Amino acid sequence: MQSFFQTKEDVLVLTSAGTGGLEAAIVNTLSPGDKVLAVSIGVFGDRFAEIARVYGADVATLQFPMGSAADPDEVRRALAADPSIMAVLVTQNETSTGVTNDMKALCSVVKEYDKLLLVDAISGLAAIDLPVDAWNCDVVVSGSQKGWMIPPGLVMVSVSKRAWDAVAKAQMPRFYFDFTSAKKYLQRGQTPFTPAVSVFFALDAALSLMAREGLASIFARHEKIGQYTRDGVRSLGLVLFADPRYASNAVTAVKVPDGVDGKALTKVMREQWGIVLAGGQASLEGKIFRIGHLGYVSTEDIDDVISALPQALRAAGSGQTEAEKTTGS
Ligand SMILES: *Cc1c(COP(=O)(O)O)cnc(C)c1O
Repeated sequence: MQSFFQTKEDVLVLTSAGTGGLEAAIVNTLSPGDKVLAVSIGVFGDRFAEIARVYGADVATLQFPMGSAADPDEVRRALAADPSIMAVLVTQNETSTGVTNDMKALCSVVKEYDKLLLVDAISGLAAIDLPVDAWNCDVVVSGSQKGWMIPPGLVMVSVSKRAWDAVAKAQMPRFYFDFTSAKKYLQRGQTPFTPAVSVFFALDAALSLMAREGLASIFARHEKIGQYTRDGVRSLGLVLFADPRYASNAVTAVKVPDGVDGKALTKVMREQWGIVLAGGQASLEGKIFRIGHLGYVSTEDIDDVISALPQALRAAGSGQTEAEKTTGS
């Protein structure tokens, strides 16, 4: 796991959904009342902030519009304005909008102000480059069902030396997700509680495949399939949701065209073509659909999606664009 996180620090593997890993990052490094800057560009950024709030952190949220990336200069201004901020929460790859943040720039701003940096890399790690040590990320969370290509059930969490210092002082309550206990057991090759054993076997197999391919090739493959998907979507005349400069190579969000029912579209794709697309979450429900292309997904899979979409769009809507409707054609 250390080589895939590009870290020499500890990587703990906990049995949980991804969200449990985010909760673990918060409760192990913070105390109630601690000032936290949550940088959010979508649903998962909001969730990270909410977890910190629930555990009593004093959370200031720096919100960017859905579809855009976080602006490092605005993060810098927020950190300069409030020296009491102790930690920064950032999402590497915002799965709800198909946007990948400029992590290199964001990490360097956080480093400049010497804050603890907690990263939700659940859907980006092992697919999109994130050199954890080189970019000074303190706690980085990933999840088995995303780039690792295996069933859900495990979260992987890297913990820097600086994060361990924070763990020693952190007062938020924790039991199941206690890093200190996880590390103690790890040293004996064990876990504090019953692990998701079957998923560990799957992870072992996935890591063998990934090690054979190599990190650089894995990142290049995701860049290629991301571009391939965006090109395919645009070739159908559809409009991409994300700011093209920050479009994710793990997931592509597409605007649901006028006159098409987004829910019906994903249903038709699933039932008639056996293709599972994701809908939009929260305020984006019905407005976008998402094509996942991280991990074990080939360009042939994307070809299937692109060739099924025109018929599915017709089945899920009037088949008319707004322009066609107004001209009556
Ligand atoms: C999938 C995902 C999560 C949540 O993972 P769960 O396993 O559903 O809890 C959190 N953040 C991001 C960016 C994700 O893609």
